[in-house]
Amino acid sequence: MIPYGKQAISQHDIDAVVDVLKSDWLTQGPKVPEFEKTVCAYSHAQYGTATNSATSALHIACLALEVGHNDIVWTSPNSFVASSNCALYCGAKVDFVDIDPDTGNMCIDALTSKLEHAYSNNILPKVLIPVHFAGQSCDMQAIAQLSEQYGFSVIEDASHAVGSKYQDLPVGNCQFSDICIFSFHPVKIVTTAEGGMALTNQPELDKKLKLFRSHGITADKLQLQNETDGPWYYEQQALGFNYRMTDLHAALGISQFLQLDQFVAKRNQLASYYDEHLISHPHIKPLKQSENVYSAYHLYVVRVISATPDIHRQLVTQLRSKNIFCHVHYIPIYLQPYYQEKGFKAGYCVNAEAYYHSAITLPLFPALTQQEQEYIVETLTESVAALEIPTQ
Ligand SMILES: *Cc1c(COP(=O)(O)O)cnc(C)c1O
Repeated sequence: MIPYGKQAISQHDIDAVVDVLKSDWLTQGPKVPEFEKTVCAYSHAQYGTATNSATSALHIACLALEVGHNDIVWTSPNSFVASSNCALYCGAKVDFVDIDPDTGNMCIDALTSKLEHAYSNNILPKVLIPVHFAGQSCDMQAIAQLSEQYGFSVIEDASHAVGSKYQDLPVGNCQFSDICIFSFHPVKIVTTAEGGMALTNQPELDKKLKLFRSHGITADKLQLQNETDGPWYYEQQALGFNYRMTDLHAALGISQFLQLDQFVAKRNQLASYYDEHLISHPHIKPLKQSENVYSAYHLYVVRVISATPDIHRQLVTQLRSKNIFCHVHYIPIYLQPYYQEKGFKAGYCVNAEAYYHSAITLPLFPALTQQEQEYIVETLTESVAALEIPTQ
């Protein structure tokens, strides 16, 4: 079976982790701050808070921006549930902005009209969480303009976009957002096994992120609210969590970052192969890449044009039966039973739903061979030809 994604672990990665095992610290040693520095230097952000997952990073990002019970957070329905659950963890309400089906990203026109409507009804979001789907950055300049106009904060969910660029600068620089989130799960671009990071340029947010990461506790003399009792003294100032990354994970991350540019170049090369061999197909349409964007290609997605949901299902099933473990990203979040119980109805974001019934994620990872790619393209084209898809 050819998987849709797979980590690449080198001997250098293994040695880096083993070195930590032999050292004095397994957690909260020197590797975590070193990893934070590495990621900040790479992405041109001022501050980084490493966490045990991107989900944790999204949660503390919402807390740092003071998302609470009377607030609303907006995100994209075309994402993993974590992009939206983070708001619910804080007791806030969540709502969804429909997507541009050509890119899978939040649609700026849909966002603009939803904001106009929310403004007149006095229900503006406190935070917007755009998701850089498949690795392609959203139009952050447009989003930043709207955030200024309507006064909401922005958390970029860049779980797919480690190593991506927007306007020639690395995603993660927070030029157009308050906080940017990376994921280091093994199917993503680089891995720490489990892990994530929250990046920001605002020192006050950075302090809060670090407080919420570790129980709400600080021992920093400059931050203490009371007189110190002595050198052992620390204070719990908020209700935080244990979301810390360990030195083992951080050492793997530092080593993986050395290979990030290579991984992204390889992913782009593999994506170009798919593009070239599928671009003129009447029924298969690769995602559109916008201007000013360099994608890290976490996912390679095609849409099957004019296919019914049934044909789409048959196609994915057939490909899997032929050892191509393709996937579908994503089931619109609000169609999940948990969200349906909250009152969201099918038909809420028509583009995201139509997109869901046409999208197929093809295998893409650094070790994918040309031979495997040839087999995938051939099998896909043959399978599509065998299904009777009406021409538009
Ligand atoms: C993977 C992913 C997450 C969660 O990442 P974890 O590190 O597994 O918690 C959040 N958002 C998106 C868009 C993702 O793809």
